[in-house]
Amino acid sequence: MAIKQLTVLGATGSIGVSTLDVVARHPDRYSVFALTCHSQVELLAQQCRQFVPRYAVTSDKDQATKLQQSLADIPTEVLAGPQALCDVASADEVDMVMAAIVGAAGLLPTLAAAESGKRVLLANKESLVMAGNLFMQAVQRGGAELLPIDSEHNAIFQCLPEGYDHFDRAGVRKILLTGSGGPFRTTPLAELSAVTPDQACAHPNWSMGRKISVDSATMMNKGLELIEACWLFNVSPDWVEVVVHPQSVVHSMVEYVDGSVLAQLGNPDMRTPIAHAMAWPQRIESGVSSLDMVAAARLEFEVPDEQRFPSLRLARQAAAAGKDLAAALNAVNEVAVAAFLQGRLAFPRIAELVDQVLQQWQGSEPNSIEAVQASDQMARQKATELL
Ligand code: NDP
Ligand code: MG
Repeated sequence: MAIKQLTVLGATGSIGVSTLDVVARHPDRYSVFALTCHSQVELLAQQCRQFVPRYAVTSDKDQATKLQQSLADIPTEVLAGPQALCDVASADEVDMVMAAIVGAAGLLPTLAAAESGKRVLLANKESLVMAGNLFMQAVQRGGAELLPIDSEHNAIFQCLPEGYDHFDRAGVRKILLTGSGGPFRTTPLAELSAVTPDQACAHPNWSMGRKISVDSATMMNKGLELIEACWLFNVSPDWVEVVVHPQSVVHSMVEYVDGSVLAQLGNPDMRTPIAHAMAWPQRIESGVSSLDMVAAARLEFEVPDEQRFPSLRLARQAAAAGKDLAAALNAVNEVAVAAFLQGRLAFPRIAELVDQVLQQWQGSEPNSIEAVQASDQMARQKATELL
């Protein structure tokens, strides 16, 4: 079996680190072609020493020069900037790309991987939320293999028949997209305006980057995932029902017309979907421990509280409206979450800001990535003005 060459975009993040943990368990299967970072150059240097990639990419040129000096004794070449991210995602030698940069910054390199026909391990849900139509076209054109890393979508993928092309023909009745409800599921509503970034990032079950942790607390993450599911599985939003499941053991479910419900279960550890997508259709060891069903004992399911989680309704509306509304929603949310993390915006204002911008949004069908980026910029500007 030929060793697969892997580029990890966002190697220093939560998903990137988990990916390298899986890679380290299988030196006979995977080798690292490129690693990229944004601010954590020290960590990237350590990762380069361990995996000795052909390339390392930083965002900043000065950082790259320093890193190159510190790696003088290994053959890794250090590059910098957005074009370098696209280059290492699309290089001929690369078989698989882990797309794990957070936010809109991940769009172009993820798209480059799709265009060049790689196996795309998609963690960066923002790519699909912003530019779903164009992204899926790029996957088709490039002959890429798109495998979901997001645990819910990976679960759904595992519960669908292999090679299905259409939900009706596959006999699917609906998707049940589960979400934990985050750290504020039972916090009195009146207390939400005083919650801190650290409280919002203390997810009860998952350890993740700060942006997605806040999204989990507002459940905007589930809203983005609803949009992601529509593109990945080629369905309209009404096929997807969101279910709150506080234990995060059932990662999502698919219901069939005969009444069967298939679920994928496991410990909340991203190494499971990462290993699944890397090895698919085979299975490999991921380092994740056995699920102790007896210790888990209770699995609860609830209808999401719309008053507590207005982001869910906003995302569903954006998904149904189509055009560039999801890109606008994503952009405003990124601005709002960043402001909340800096202590400049109260938690309930995140969803309010998204609502405010979307209410005034005209909406147009983006026919190019430049158009998507223009919508993204305009939404950011409107959000910043309202802050
Ligand atoms: P982190 O914040 O932990 O990591 C983000 C990564 O992106 C880091 O390597 C960071 O570099 C890099 N990065 C940040 N900004 C830029 C930029 N402007 N240009 C280039 N690189 C940048 O995020 P997560 O790992 O949690 O999430 C990554 C993606 O995966 C997100 O899209 C998220 O929605 C998705 N995801 C994550 C899950 C999880 O469990 N964590 C679950 C499902 C999906 P540095 O650290 O060096 O600054
Ligand atoms: Mg998820």
